[in-house]
Amino acid sequence: MPDPHIEELLRLDREHVWHPYGPMPGRQQPLVVESAAGVRLRVAGHGELVDGMSSWWSAIHGYNHPVLNEAARGQLDRMSHVMFGGLTHEPAVRLAQRLVEMSPAGLEHVFLADSGSVSVEVALKMCLQYWRSLGLPEKRRMLTWRGGYHGDTWQPMSVCDPEGGMHGLWAGVLPEQVFADAPPSAYEESYAEHLRQTVERHAHELAAVIVEPVVQGAGGMRFHSPAYLRVLREACDAHDVLLVFDEIATGFGRTGALFAAEHAALTPDVMCVGKALTGGYLTLAATLCTPRVAQGISRGEVPVLAHGPTFMGNPLAAAVACASIDLLLGQDWLAEVKRIEAGLREGLSAAREVPGVRDVRVLGAIGVVQLDHEVDIAAATRAAVAEGVWVRPFRDLVYTMPPYVTGDEDLARITRAVCAAAREG
Ligand code: PMP
Repeated sequence: MPDPHIEELLRLDREHVWHPYGPMPGRQQPLVVESAAGVRLRVAGHGELVDGMSSWWSAIHGYNHPVLNEAARGQLDRMSHVMFGGLTHEPAVRLAQRLVEMSPAGLEHVFLADSGSVSVEVALKMCLQYWRSLGLPEKRRMLTWRGGYHGDTWQPMSVCDPEGGMHGLWAGVLPEQVFADAPPSAYEESYAEHLRQTVERHAHELAAVIVEPVVQGAGGMRFHSPAYLRVLREACDAHDVLLVFDEIATGFGRTGALFAAEHAALTPDVMCVGKALTGGYLTLAATLCTPRVAQGISRGEVPVLAHGPTFMGNPLAAAVACASIDLLLGQDWLAEVKRIEAGLREGLSAAREVPGVRDVRVLGAIGVVQLDHEVDIAAATRAAVAEGVWVRPFRDLVYTMPPYVTGDEDLARITRAVCAAAREG
């Protein structure tokens, strides 16, 4: 029996509300989430679904967490927002302090952006301005590798995979960047050489290399050897190019290291974080950089970084981010991520038997089943929901990155649902 209230919401949603990568009016019928607690979403007409997505990498502690709720409430009673021009406040300062302490050594300065895409915009602007300040404005292109994803605003779109179907529409309109081939999963010297040569050949016009370290997320959920990051670090140092790591998806423990850069034991010149920064509670991201980058900018004709969004350093988001980081670091987060990794490896091994499955891969709290065809998203989602699980497949992928607090039984349910989705999709 359809619920008239929910039916009306869905009608209004279809008529008026854009969804990510969606048409207008809407064609798909989204599920209506009524509330969320722990690792469960309460969904109209379906009861509780175990969340296999952490709301796109972000809700690492699960939903409605008492500690994060308390941090938000406490801050709400003090102030929810003030402008950041000419004013500062403890939540932003303490968050910057925490980020500097926990990040790879040498990243000392923090720009508090309001979304992942903006943090990438800021990162790229920092790099462009650095070279401009040093009198080398011709160093204004970015090098990245194919298969990447860095956000939906203009500069980030220009460094997304050009053939990935995400932003191909804008070819010829976006700034033209330099692309290396996508990294293979295992280390291959010939590919390392390709990277070195591409950096060297274009160094005169390159401001920076920007990559997602170890895991290419929304561009295809591919993993690669951390050794390529060292190749990039060395090539960038040898040829005067800055190195930017986009850790928006990989940050805060997801890959089994606090930041994926740690797998290669190196520090990029600039690093972007977002998503799990607030435990998925509020929209906040950050761009960190080294003193070299900041001092370079300060030496320029325009010695300031001209970026200052209205909601920069939002105290509510910053207070929750501090609480989320304390929650993460106050527990044996690595043991939890390793436990999830083991559960995903075991549970997803069954997917290898599913016809049409091309690859199954697991790293940290990330599990991916890749098919040999485009997933029928509606059929795959239906199959997962029938198992009591929320996952959101895309392209040829059914994947999961559960909250770190997911218990073993719920994890087994998620892996069963991913296998079912792969079978039906
Ligand atoms: N970079 C990476 C690696 C991402 O995964 C994302 C989000 N999917 C972004 C940037 C953009 O972040 P946001 O959606 O918060 O703008």
